[in-house]
Amino acid sequence: MTEPLQTTSDSSTMPTAGSFVEKTPLERYLPPAKPSLVGLSRAQLAEALATVGVPTAQRKMRVQQIWHWLYVRGARDFDAMTSVSKELRAALAAHFTLERPEVVAEQISTDGTRKWLLRLPGEHALERPHEIECVYIPETDRGTLCLSSQVGCTLTCSFCHTGTQRLVRNLTPGEIVGQIAVARDRLGDWLGGARASGNSADGEGRGRLVSNIVMMGMGEPLYNFEAVRDALLIAADGEGIAISKRRITLSTSGVVPNIARAAAEIGCMLAVSLHAVRDELRNELVPLNRKYPIEQLLDACRNYPGLSNARRITFEYVMLKDVNDSLADANALIKLLAGIPAKINLIPFNPWPGTRYECSDWERIEKFSEIIFNAGYASPVRTPRGRDILAACGQLKSASEKLSARERLALRAMAMTD
Ligand code: SAH
Ligand code: SF4
Repeated sequence: MTEPLQTTSDSSTMPTAGSFVEKTPLERYLPPAKPSLVGLSRAQLAEALATVGVPTAQRKMRVQQIWHWLYVRGARDFDAMTSVSKELRAALAAHFTLERPEVVAEQISTDGTRKWLLRLPGEHALERPHEIECVYIPETDRGTLCLSSQVGCTLTCSFCHTGTQRLVRNLTPGEIVGQIAVARDRLGDWLGGARASGNSADGEGRGRLVSNIVMMGMGEPLYNFEAVRDALLIAADGEGIAISKRRITLSTSGVVPNIARAAAEIGCMLAVSLHAVRDELRNELVPLNRKYPIEQLLDACRNYPGLSNARRITFEYVMLKDVNDSLADANALIKLLAGIPAKINLIPFNPWPGTRYECSDWERIEKFSEIIFNAGYASPVRTPRGRDILAACGQLKSASEKLSARERLALRAMAMTD
């Protein structure tokens, strides 16, 4: 069903300098004539089965079977669904696909980190398709997948490259779950699949290579709430992809009203991009702060249900040279977070062409992290890894321009996987 083309470029919705800016997603998702089943919930699958004539009495059982093929086995072909009758397979194939986002490029680093460049359809046939990245970071005891929630971002954080992108489109649940499907396809990480070599995160038969998810790729997940929620509930479903909610972390720049919703409707772990301890500075770095200032944001964090020493909120803090990296800032950060079960992730700033910021000096990051460590925020286990990341940032100082997008994302995601 192709809808007539419409132009959605409305200059009145474009950002104006100086004002608080939230870009409107100008791009719309136009479903293909033959939609993919990947990313459908049980209820939506039941509807899909109804459209191909499966009688009501059989639907629940069929949904159960297809759910298994989609989310445990990762079937890419209806014919692989051997527990489903031939007739139903043919009927499904006539109306639906099992497509995932198209993989345009795959990069594999020597440490096993993988990055996929994925292509998503644009709204207009003649327009360049959209591209998003999805990164997999294997470690000894886990494998973390960093997912995008939007093409571009409606927000305009001044240190973030994504925020400079004009066009924004919300991803569909299928495109979010599709990123997990691509990763599991490429890693051979489905039940019965042949594992890709060089990955030993969990060992054959002892759980999956993709064990954790972080929503910290492109986009603000809490501004695409329903799609992110629906996708993460599929990811957490114990009879499917089965990644526990404790192993799913959603990172937000501080969309306060949706923080409580994330707790109630998703129940995942939360990461908050704080980056500054004063409203004046945070207004500049994260303009959404003008709408939801630090005090409101931290109140929402305090009220996040289920927090304990074992279930903490992660506060992300990007290290910007001479902007937010003074030792007074470090002390203020500790005071600000007092009483909230928190982890603090210092993220080395990753420069991009045209940015006005620089990454803090390595020595400064060390001192900053020491203050935080001495306040009890980093466990001894976590410190060496933190140090690794900091060391990486130190190296970046000389080679920052050479840092690939993959490495940048990997650094960001690594900082998240504790
Ligand atoms: N929009 C969400 C999630 C995606 S951004 C959010 O802002 O939380 C994921 C993390 O990367 C955020 O903490 C963000 O502040 C940080 N980030 C963005 N650009 C960065 C850069 N150039 N260097 C380091 N961290 C960056
Ligand atoms: Fe969007 Fe997050 Fe980048 Fe801010 S930091 S512009 S919220 S992706």
